[in-house]
Amino acid sequence: MPRIPGASSRLQDNPVAGPKRVLLAAPRGYCAGVDRAVIAVEKALNLYGAPVYVRKQIVHNVHVVSELEAQGAIFVDEVDEVPEGSHIVFSAHGVSPAVVNAAADRQLQAIDATCPLVTKVHREAVRFARADQEILLIGHEGHEEVEGTAGHAPERTTIVNGPEDVDKITVKDPDNVVWLSQTTLSVDETMETVRLLRERFPNLKNPPSDDICYATQNRQVAIKKVAVGADLVIVVGSANSSNSVRLVEVALEYGAKAAYRVDYASEIKQEWLDGVQTVGVTSGASVPEVLVDEVLRDLAGAGYGDVQEVKTAEEDLMFSLPKELRKDLEGNRDERALGGRRSS
Ligand code: SF4
Repeated sequence: MPRIPGASSRLQDNPVAGPKRVLLAAPRGYCAGVDRAVIAVEKALNLYGAPVYVRKQIVHNVHVVSELEAQGAIFVDEVDEVPEGSHIVFSAHGVSPAVVNAAADRQLQAIDATCPLVTKVHREAVRFARADQEILLIGHEGHEEVEGTAGHAPERTTIVNGPEDVDKITVKDPDNVVWLSQTTLSVDETMETVRLLRERFPNLKNPPSDDICYATQNRQVAIKKVAVGADLVIVVGSANSSNSVRLVEVALEYGAKAAYRVDYASEIKQEWLDGVQTVGVTSGASVPEVLVDEVLRDLAGAGYGDVQEVKTAEEDLMFSLPKELRKDLEGNRDERALGGRRSS
């Protein structure tokens, strides 16, 4: 297992005017979709042996990716980099039908770890396209999830990056438009984009339910509550993790005097703590708790040992493993049971 940088506190205990404390946001860290995707790769490695190929980062976290690499996963950008007949896992962010077809053309054994909440958005895109509606997909161009969703209705989808894009987009029929969104956006900014879109297209239809997922929403609600009383907010998460980056923005918007994103505790700078009494801590949906523990340990070393959890929701959602994997795991179990009976 790769060593976590910054395992011992390098931060100094600077004096400040009053008592120091940490407000620890909850929920934080792993969501059900990330948990399922990471377990899927681990189970695939156990079942089929290394290497198992993974298209794109299974989840957007450098630590998780390096741990899986150490176990034998090979991350690729596209399926044409994978030897024919190999096992490939599609990441939690989802893929377009073109990618599924390209994998089938190479006789790859695909395991689809797309988060079921992303699959729900894919289905909506297909349904709206079949009904000949134009889809305004609010999300970041180039993000894997947006590429995957747009790829389910490429002829009928226009990507709207945010409020600043609303005036630039063109549609064929302004009375026949519906919006969808990436699952990991800022709730407030997305609602602002929808408001501006509706000003331009008064007959804009809503999707049947919110696309921004429960985990993204819950982590934003929690950090809003923490940020109000925080001099500094530290968000643990990777630079390419959309929901982690949004947490920094939301913290600043809701009153944190400063907010930074770090992959590891070792990235916390001593000067961030100057004059700071209250530090807010949270983590993105793709971040294992061990990385938060390291941050808390370093902060404790700098005098912030009083940790108060600020909990705004309980989470108990779990997803079953991808069906391809379940089938092979069951087959394997049956075979072992049969082997046991034969030898008895
Ligand atoms: S952040 Fe939301 S959509 Fe993305 S994997 Fe987690 S639960 Fe699924």
